[in-house]
Amino acid sequence: MKIIRTRADLRAATAAWRQAGESIGVVPTMGALHEGHLSLVTAAKSTADRVIVTLFVNPRQFNNAADLAAYPRTETSDAEKLGPFAVDVLYIPDPDQMYPKGFATTVSVGGLDQGLCGAHRPGHFDGVATVVTKLFIQTDADAAFFGEKDFQQLQIVRTLARDLDLHIRVIGCPTVREADGFALSSRNVRLGSKARADAPGLYRALQAAAARINAGDPVADVIGAARAAILAAGYTEVEYLELRSEDGLEPLTAPRTPARLLVAAWIDGVRLIDNIRL
Ligand code: AMP
Repeated sequence: MKIIRTRADLRAATAAWRQAGESIGVVPTMGALHEGHLSLVTAAKSTADRVIVTLFVNPRQFNNAADLAAYPRTETSDAEKLGPFAVDVLYIPDPDQMYPKGFATTVSVGGLDQGLCGAHRPGHFDGVATVVTKLFIQTDADAAFFGEKDFQQLQIVRTLARDLDLHIRVIGCPTVREADGFALSSRNVRLGSKARADAPGLYRALQAAAARINAGDPVADVIGAARAAILAAGYTEVEYLELRSEDGLEPLTAPRTPARLLVAAWIDGVRLIDNIRL
């Protein structure tokens, strides 16, 4: 695995692959790799001839300076974790490679970025959409692999790829969970032991709520009960808990498939998100 830090070196690598007629898959990450990220790498390896993993803690998608400062940075162990996967390139651009002086363009996906995480993290999805567009262009990839854990992000990325004619397939991969159902996330390392023990209450509440909605219980009642269950499990705040259509993420007051229940909640000073398909 070659570690590349500049656009020019990346271009040289991808141009050679292109000349040989090889396809390229990309897995964008912010590092602090865990099994969730590695499942995307496995999916990419099974689809594309060449695989690029990108590692960039994108300052533009953090609306909170403390969250950016606290974000784990573990470049050496990330490279080690990728070792067994025979990834071709680990691309780690410096912020000034991504955003040189005078950088002035923002990619903004209207509509889908309203509500859910978009309502609570102003500017977040513009930061995501801008960096993902740049990474798609820089890596010249045919396919990109994203986790369903960040479901609103996945739908935004699908939309920007379509709208901007980027000729890249955006592939959503299932959320990887611990044995107790807790979704893997780079932020989980910030949880104390009590919070970690309480944390699976979030997904348990989603599972129970999805089962009740599927059984025909009124959505508003179910969501109220699920909010209470999440707080009773040890979470300090439920930022949102909503039923939305998968396509277009429209708010739903009655079930319609495919739909998702999506949640963001705080525990031990850490904001966690999760979702479940109905
Ligand atoms: P991040 O490094 O948190 O920006 O995540 C990079 C990619 O990994 C995104 O596409 C995420 O949706 C995906 N991802 C994060 N956690 C998981 C998980 N538990 N299961 C599957 N994919 C995940």
